[in-house]
Amino acid sequence: MPRLYFDANATTPPHPEVVETVRKAMVDDWGNPTSTHREGQRARYRIEEARREIALSLGVAPGELVFCASATEALHLLLRGMQPDLGNRPAAVFPGEHSACLNPLRDWSRVAWLPEVPRDCATVVQMAANNETGLLYAMPTVLDAVRIQDCAQAWGKVPVDLSACDAAVFSAHKIGGPRGAALLWMRAGLPWEPVMEGPQERRRRGGTEDLPAILGCAVAVRHLPERQAMNTALVALRDAFEAEITSWNRDIEVIGLGSPRLPNTSCVLFRGRNGEALHAALDLAGFAVSTGSACHSGSVKPSHAITTLGYSLEDAGSVLRFSMLPEARPEEVEALAAAIKRLA
Ligand code: PLP
Repeated sequence: MPRLYFDANATTPPHPEVVETVRKAMVDDWGNPTSTHREGQRARYRIEEARREIALSLGVAPGELVFCASATEALHLLLRGMQPDLGNRPAAVFPGEHSACLNPLRDWSRVAWLPEVPRDCATVVQMAANNETGLLYAMPTVLDAVRIQDCAQAWGKVPVDLSACDAAVFSAHKIGGPRGAALLWMRAGLPWEPVMEGPQERRRRGGTEDLPAILGCAVAVRHLPERQAMNTALVALRDAFEAEITSWNRDIEVIGLGSPRLPNTSCVLFRGRNGEALHAALDLAGFAVSTGSACHSGSVKPSHAITTLGYSLEDAGSVLRFSMLPEARPEEVEALAAAIKRLA
């Protein structure tokens, strides 16, 4: 049996048109966009074309988008760049944020955890969708604070609404785009200073732009409407999968059941079981899934996204995340459920 991939929240295979666009750009468009000769200007034109297309899809001004290499980088540029102006005031942060967001916040003098919002709060940081649980979150209403949304997981799975935000990040490799392209969107006038200096990206992100990745990102964005429709249709498959795996064992619990969640994600607690061992057994059986743990310097640390929901460290070590690709088929999901039944 071919291997079956249920780890779409980690990364997704690039769309064939993305692969072809990246390949072609590496052959035809290798000019440096900062150069003033014809090769450079052609590359510059292609980048700006991509920026306009992506901005139109997000409903923002093209000049407000900064191309970065990853959402991790975008979050670091954003939060470190705001720090000189605002870092002496507290940030109100959702405790389940991705480490890509929590790490740059270490430079801030004070961080309060939502729902606590200090009166002199400078920024509110609330991810649109959690990568591990799939739970969806709305941006809290806080006056006079910069509202930041990490849309890395929501993009292409559920509609993204930037009207309640001032800054947001997106990652191409989560939507069938290439590695090496991500977006930092900042509303014009945001208090912010560049962290990586250089003339590129209007002095907001130094470093020669990765043109093939940026063009590949634009192609992935072009395919977003169909991707989102396919993801929306996964709800029935996800619900059937969850009903099936919880039907035979009372110690299996779906985290976040009944709350608004990503349509492709099931975060499952196998109470009393070792998540790492189950993950390895499923991998051997041909299924790529993810644990609720993160590996830091060789030691496995249960996920804070799970413990902040009130689960114990032991429970967090017993969690597996199943995240479907948009094209997941019922028979593949049934095969996964059967394997879980055999192994759990
Ligand atoms: N934010 C969230 C919610 C994520 O899930 C991820 C990656 O899994 C990131 C940020 C980091 O994205 P990237 O891989 O582009 O650095």
